[in-house]
Amino acid sequence: PKNDNIKVFIKDRLYSREEAKISVFDSAVQGGDAVWEGLRVYPEGVVCLDKHLNRLYESAKTLAFVDIPSKDFIKNAIKQTLEANGMNDDTHIRLTLTRGEKITSGMDPRLNQSGSCLIVLAEWKPLVYDNATGIKVISTSQRRNSPQFLDSKIHHNNLLNNIIAKIQANIAGKDAGLMLDDRGFVAELNGSNVFMVKDNIIYTPFAHACLPGITRNTVMELCKSNDIKIIEADLSLAQWYNSDGVFATGTMGELTPIVEIDGREINRDNTLMKKVLDLFKENIRSYCETL
Ligand code: PMP
Repeated sequence: PKNDNIKVFIKDRLYSREEAKISVFDSAVQGGDAVWEGLRVYPEGVVCLDKHLNRLYESAKTLAFVDIPSKDFIKNAIKQTLEANGMNDDTHIRLTLTRGEKITSGMDPRLNQSGSCLIVLAEWKPLVYDNATGIKVISTSQRRNSPQFLDSKIHHNNLLNNIIAKIQANIAGKDAGLMLDDRGFVAELNGSNVFMVKDNIIYTPFAHACLPGITRNTVMELCKSNDIKIIEADLSLAQWYNSDGVFATGTMGELTPIVEIDGREINRDNTLMKKVLDLFKENIRSYCETL
């Protein structure tokens, strides 16, 4: 109910929630043809704002979008939306850029004649998971896309692989699906990146079949600047089952311990993992950027 009266920015202005609609001819409806970012707002600002805008731009360029609004325009749209809603904390922003409205239905980008369409949806949202309890996951039969199919470096709205993985986790009564890449190595969870600890070293999968997460990047930076050894590697399920600690990372979920994988219990009290979780909590607000 807290989000019932929110205002949403579409293309060039704010609309009430009821009026906030896009065309049935929009590329997002016609082909999942859109890119997006999930941002977190603290009173200090938006976490890693520039990195999110850069990734949005790179995704849009990769998909050959045209008439992309400038970064300043997007920042201003975010500012207007937050101000109109009186939001400055516990806020999630779903930034979407679609290829725009088409002149007829169909997938061909040449049908897009009116430029891309920006949507800034700001909502009140608490952390995704209870980070004190941790989450339980299962590995899914649904694989994460590799660059051979749909490059995971594009943060696109074609989320069906991830949604199928989440459905598999739901049916198993677990919190999230752990997706493997096309070679059988762990890629990421259906909506966040993963890290593991083994013998006082932090490991995370290479970014070829996972989203190059901004929180993943922050964790890697924090480890490096605090003399914690961090290695990107191909890691098979056996290594995750037998690790000393595992955690997920994402902008909204932040750092969440994973306490079970495929029914194998994972230690939640590893000292190094706790150190990384604390480092993140102590430092994340210094990554906020004002609009
Ligand atoms: N992986 C996937 C599939 C995601 O959707 C997300 C969140 N957008 C992440 C990882 C986490 O990325 P970030 O740290 O940039 O929020």
